[in-house]
Amino acid sequence: MGEDCLRTVSEPVTAIDDDIRALIGEMFDTMKKENGVGLAAPQVGKNIRIFIALVHNQKYVFINPQIIETSQETCVMEEGCLSIPKIYDYVTRPAAVKIQFLDADGKRCTMEADGLLARVIQHENDHLNGVLFIDRLDPEKKEELVK
Ligand code: ZN
Repeated sequence: MGEDCLRTVSEPVTAIDDDIRALIGEMFDTMKKENGVGLAAPQVGKNIRIFIALVHNQKYVFINPQIIETSQETCVMEEGCLSIPKIYDYVTRPAAVKIQFLDADGKRCTMEADGLLARVIQHENDHLNGVLFIDRLDPEKKEELVK
């Protein structure tokens, strides 16, 4: 799992074929093994625009996602990342988002989310753009953590 992959802007999915479905299955296995609530394809070495979530026992697949609206209201939540072990910190983000995406069947969907799901969506969507949650901390704090 290269550091480079985590810092690359991922490419859109062009066709939801057997390879993509297999990848999504593997991603769910990996996420469950690590007790995660979300996982993005770049975290398993694939720079393509897919992430998954498991929130309140509900599975979500987001393909070619686009966050089209974010709330003015923000909230602070503690975040961690399977790709940055043992680092946890509080991150401020919009409390709610509206997202457009394709589901695992290729159906175009729009969803509004708040609470933990909104948080996971924003964290994982950042991965598709080569952004990590530590980038959202103030620079001093980030330096201290990365040391
Ligand atoms: Zn992460």
